[in-house]
Amino acid sequence: MPQQSDVLQASHDFRWAAVVARDAKADGQFFYAVSSTKIYCRPSCGARAPKPENVSFFLTSTEAEQAGYRPCLRCLPNQPPLAERQATLVADLCRQIETAETAPTLEALAQGAQMSAFHLRRLFKSITGLTPKAYATAHRAGKMRDELGRGSSVTEAIYAAGYNANSRFYSEAEQVLGMTPKRYRAGGAGTVIRFALGQSALGAILVAATERGVCAILLGDDPELLIGDLQYRFPKAELLSGDAEFEQFVAAVVGFVEAPKLGLELPLDVQGTAFQQRVWQALRDVPVGTTVSYSDLAQRIGSPKSVRAVAGACAANPLAVAIPCHRVVRIDGGLSGYRWGVERKRALLDLESEA
Ligand SMILES: [Zn+2]
Repeated sequence: MPQQSDVLQASHDFRWAAVVARDAKADGQFFYAVSSTKIYCRPSCGARAPKPENVSFFLTSTEAEQAGYRPCLRCLPNQPPLAERQATLVADLCRQIETAETAPTLEALAQGAQMSAFHLRRLFKSITGLTPKAYATAHRAGKMRDELGRGSSVTEAIYAAGYNANSRFYSEAEQVLGMTPKRYRAGGAGTVIRFALGQSALGAILVAATERGVCAILLGDDPELLIGDLQYRFPKAELLSGDAEFEQFVAAVVGFVEAPKLGLELPLDVQGTAFQQRVWQALRDVPVGTTVSYSDLAQRIGSPKSVRAVAGACAANPLAVAIPCHRVVRIDGGLSGYRWGVERKRALLDLESEA
């Protein structure tokens, strides 16, 4: 038992004040042990505050254990501090995400870390500022750009970046084009449109561009239907398969579609009626992570009564994600329809609501 003088000393000790305050800044500086329980703790431990007469202090956990105390199971004073353990865990998770063939699910990460998906997501975000999913997306997009910077082809870059890519889309597209090189000309005033197919987290993607910029970003499950869609949209244009240089466009667009917040640094060639263009411009002014209703949009372009026409313009949007018609929802917050499928719309909105 401590002497009366020790008790007085303890209760006046700065260390006792730190224990009472559960001051995390004092962690690592000393440990306190409680004679009634034979357990020692870090100053910040959330355990019930002991009586000062039962407390003694140690500089190291080894000394506390040599004096016969056991480590508290709550604050684990014989292990590195919590913040350090968490940082180590999150760094480890980052490496796992970066090296995985396909991005691990939140559940898989949580299982590996032996914590709930909810806590893992929160911890990861508190340290990195991103959810694990957003981190994986950003990492892949960055890797893709690096690969292309080194002169890799899109297909190589897609593989190197760990996309769930399928080069079949390319060979098939080449074949489709080789056999049916659709050339629509009208009065000699045709536009040349180059295009290529790729694969994104949201499925097959077709990117097309005129000399002026990207004129179509189409999403779907079937690459051939996307080519059909392109032909339908630009029946008078000359459609050409994109060359190697064009693949840079596709890569940039795939990266953008997967992480819309990174922005698309490519010129757009938006072709539509004057009314459609007004609607599309208003859509482009809807910030990432927010939504509007069709009537909001009609108000914004100064035609509050044209709600139906606005919905029509959204459906005719040729530039998925770049003109964010996925940010239009019903007044009651319901998703309503989406030209490229409600599931893609949900996926995009989920992607954008994450940090
Ligand atoms: Zn403790």
